Amino acid sequence: MKVGIVGGGITGLTTAYRLLRAGHQATIFEAAPLLGGLAASTQVQGVWVDKFYHCILPSDTALLSLVAEIGLGDDIYWQETEMGFLCQGRLYPLTTPTDLLRFSPLSVLDRLRLGFAGLYTRRLRSWQALEHVTAQDWLTRFCGERAFNTVWKPLLTFKFGDQWQQAPATYLWARVKRQGSTRQGRSAKERLAYVKGGFKAILERLADEVRGLGGTIHTATPVDRIAADGSSVHGLTIRGHLQRFDKVVATVPLVQFLRLIDPELLGEPLRPDTVSYQAAVCVMLVLKKRLSRYYWIPVVDSAASFSGIVETTNLIRSEDLNGIHLVYLVNYVPREDPLFSADPDALIDKLTGELGRLVPTFTTAQILESHVFKAAFVEPVWTLNYSARMPRRAFLNDSLFLLTTAQLYPAINSTSNCVQQVADVMRQLASPPDSHGQHRFAQSATGAESPRDPRPR
Ligand SMILES: Cc1cc2nc3c(=O)[nH]c(=O)nc-3n(C[C@H](O)[C@H](O)[C@H](O)COP(=O)(O)OP(=O)(O)OC[C@H]3O[C@@H](n4cnc5c(N)ncnc54)[C@H](O)[C@@H]3O)c2cc1C
Repeated sequence: MKVGIVGGGITGLTTAYRLLRAGHQATIFEAAPLLGGLAASTQVQGVWVDKFYHCILPSDTALLSLVAEIGLGDDIYWQETEMGFLCQGRLYPLTTPTDLLRFSPLSVLDRLRLGFAGLYTRRLRSWQALEHVTAQDWLTRFCGERAFNTVWKPLLTFKFGDQWQQAPATYLWARVKRQGSTRQGRSAKERLAYVKGGFKAILERLADEVRGLGGTIHTATPVDRIAADGSSVHGLTIRGHLQRFDKVVATVPLVQFLRLIDPELLGEPLRPDTVSYQAAVCVMLVLKKRLSRYYWIPVVDSAASFSGIVETTNLIRSEDLNGIHLVYLVNYVPREDPLFSADPDALIDKLTGELGRLVPTFTTAQILESHVFKAAFVEPVWTLNYSARMPRRAFLNDSLFLLTTAQLYPAINSTSNCVQQVADVMRQLASPPDSHGQHRFAQSATGAESPRDPRPR
């Protein structure tokens, strides 16, 4: 079976690798000159680094298994990391339960209630009941308005911007479970992993495997159109030419997918606003010296234009990056936000000025290089009862698949969950196409995906 794949990020590469291993043919078309998508890299001071900060958590088992399978298991290393919390201009450690007990912006009672809310949510086995309740309602019930406004509201705003009020409590559940996996031992210190050479090493090794297994990868080759009729896919149109495929897998955000195909053909009322996405704006600073000891610092009530500071060199080994220090000033915003369209130099001036006011030891003389990286469709905004509106993964009698970060729910948007999503559809994807629609109904009868299946897909 010949499969055409739109997009050469972690999802596209993993899909090609798995299909080739199963004996099929796979061709990837990537619009950008380099592979990687949101996990792509750039070169600074002679070393390759992630454009957007990426780390690996102990619960990222799908990614960790894939990395081991392609021979990079020995290159994974684990480090103890810490989280800070910049609140009203003051920096607090907030990694361990002891840190929480000492967190003076809240009363002792509020600190205890906050800790209890996290523990209770983490222990819940099922997420289904949580998707009818907003994260705000759920948390204020357990930990009160003040603790919610001080700690959780900023974290929700960090991820969902001004749409934070729509976030379901499912997000808290997914997040505390994932984050909880990083805590170890009685001290509950945090542990994160990285791979030598960064995500570039993983993506390049995957690409080598794909080519080695007979697959083809075209970079700088945007797909113009998915050629299809109402019952099946015919192939992909690239620079005006149709290339025939038995199946197509699109790994692009929903909005971009709907530009490639007439939505009427999909047999489901999908619209670009079925899922809205937050954009990401990151200022990357390459520094001569360390900024702080924290991997991640949410920035709250501090009059800054960024809502987080991520210092990845508190995780990445110094010798792997020739001793440079990497700091990302992060914001998730709607695409209409002035930050998203801001001039890069003006943005760097503004944000580094604000950083200097918040972290007095920082001066612009420490900057070796600075860059702005933006991505338009990053964080799918979860709303109440999201599972009911989440796009399907299979269309047109299983000849067309859509595998995007908008369908990871109730799992968090991460590379590991992208890898897991590919595994979840592989049996369906690797089975022969059926142009008469028999396949889909045969599958429904066995309990696999069907058009009205209310389970997360
Ligand atoms: C700031 C930030 C921090 C993150 N931190 C982490 C982290 O710490 N850990 C973690 O695991 N994950 C993290 N992530 C999430 C992770 O990057 C994503 O989950 C993952 O990279 C998504 O991969 P994908 O292949 O599904 O999509 P993408 O990476 O978006 O790939 C889609 C590809 O399709 C291509 N494309 C689009 N249109 C076309 C077309 N018409 N023709 C051909 N190609 C096309 C795009 O160029 C792109 O390369 C982070 C993301 C961001 C932005």
